[in-house]
Parts: sequence; C-alpha cells; structure tokens
Amino acid sequence: MNNQVALVTGSSRGIGKAIALQLAVDGYKIVVNYYNQGTDQDKNKLQAEQVLAEIESAGGSGIIIGADVSNPESAQNLVDKTVQEMGQIDVLVNNAGINKDQLILRITNEDWDRIINTNLNSAFYCSRAAIKYMVKKRFGRIITISSVVGLGGNAGQTHYAATKAGLLGLTFSIAKEYGSRGITANAVAPGFIQSDMTDALTSQQSSQITSGISVGRLGTPEDVAGAVAFLASPRASYISGQVIRVDGGMSI
Ligand code: NAP
Repeated sequence: MNNQVALVTGSSRGIGKAIALQLAVDGYKIVVNYYNQGTDQDKNKLQAEQVLAEIESAGGSGIIIGADVSNPESAQNLVDKTVQEMGQIDVLVNNAGINKDQLILRITNEDWDRIINTNLNSAFYCSRAAIKYMVKKRFGRIITISSVVGLGGNAGQTHYAATKAGLLGLTFSIAKEYGSRGITANAVAPGFIQSDMTDALTSQQSSQITSGISVGRLGTPEDVAGAVAFLASPRASYISGQVIRVDGGMSI
C-alpha cells in the first residue's frame, strides 16, 4: 500500500504486536520496540525478534529498537533512531503500557510514578519527538492506546485510569495544535482484550465481565489493531481528535 514507516511502542507482545503485524500487512515498514531494561530484557528482545520474523514471513519489513519509553532520553533516542535508520516516521502508535490494580489507599508514590511515567509520560516523550519530524513532512498519524477506563474510571485502577484519561487530553491537544500541519491525532479505547494484561483475571471475573459485553466475548488484540490500522490509513485522513471505543458494545 505504501512505503510509510510506523513505530509501535511496546510491540513485542499483546496488542502492540497485533498492531505491528496488521500495519506490516498494510504495507508499512515497522519499528518494533521492546522494553530493554530489567531482568526480562533478553526474553523481551527474543519476543521482539519473533514479531519481526512474523512480519517478514507475512511479506513485510522492519527493524527492532529496544528502548524504555518511560525514560525521556530513551524515548527521544527511539524516535531519532527510527528516522536515522528508516529515513522517516509517518505513524506513531503510543501503545506501551502497564497496570497494577490496587485500591487507592494502597497505591504508593512509587507505583503512581511508575504508572504515570510508563503510560502517560511515554506518550508525551514519543509524540513530542515524532512531531518534530512530522511537521517537516507536513504529515503524521499519532494513534494512542487509551482505555475505556480512561473514559469512565474504574475501582482499583485510579492510577491506570488517570493515565488513560490523560492520554485523551494529550490526543485532543495534539489534534488541535498540529491539524493544520497535516498531523492527525486519535485515540483507541479498548475494553477487555485478551492479553497478558487480562490473563490475570480469574475465570469468574472473566465470565462476569463477558456478561456485560454486547457481543458476548472478550476482545482480541486483532480487534484493536483493526481500528488502529483504519486510523493510520488514508481513509481516516479527515478524522482527528477522536476516541474509538473497541469494547464489543460494553459501554452501551
Ligand atoms: P501487555 O501484553 O502487558 O504488553 C505491554 C507491552 O508494553 C509489552 O510489549 C511491554 O514490553 C511494553 N512495555 C511496558 N513498559 C514499557 C516501557 N517502559 N518501554 C517500552 N515498552 C514497554 O499489554 P497489552 O494488553 O497488550 O496492552 C497494550 C496497551 O493497551 C497498553 O497501553 C494497555 O494499557 C492498553 N489496554 C489494554 C487492555 C487490555 O484489556 N489488555 C485494555 C485497554 C487498554 P515487554 O514485553 O518488553 O515488557
């Protein structure tokens, strides 16, 4: 379809992986990003290599860049390296995110800061870095993975929901600030999606959640990837500052 370059943060597994694969099938050259800090970094790198192998076997191409997007310098380097190695950045998908369900009385300052840095600050760092290049080309697509809890809140997820709501403010503001330079910014708000993040749910929790979902099942990472791919595509060029819920009708 095109020769554009898409950077997907946190694309070594889960929803980010599905987004990377879908965009690769759609013809984008992909930058697969994995978290290169901590004890699991070798495992994370291996997973990123597997994602790239899947992209290549589907006829696509890309590179891997390890970076901790919660760190301002690493996030800046990730975007700069994308442009150095791929020549441009057309699509940024702010996907990397973590959660740690806790009642507010149990949230420590450290937990709060970690969630804010990983989920919200990362999107600011990466978007700021990418916009610098996108403005020069007068083209860019910034797609940020929020959550339905960013729209409605959730008990036990105060810090996580605060970041997901914050991402919407970031999205709307970028849309207003850079629309005239050919850059659109949109958010996708998934409901309950099957991934490592939701594997922690007990089967009782899972069936209780499913009973409130109109289409009668949890979502898949591919369900989210479809919405992201649409927002990246020329079909969505007149859509900016929007939030698309991918929640199987949970919020009706
Ligand atoms: P996941 O399976 O836990 O994957 C999270 C990804 O983010 C992993 O690739 C992880 O990398 C990466 N990551 C975490 N911290 C990072 C950092 N500091 N720097 C770079 N990468 C980092 O989660 P998921 O379910 O796919 O979620 C993806 C996004 O969707 C998140 O923003 C999440 O909040 C959002 N979301 C998920 C659901 C759901 O039901 N699953 C619902 C709504 C929204 P490593 O593997 O290398 O650690």
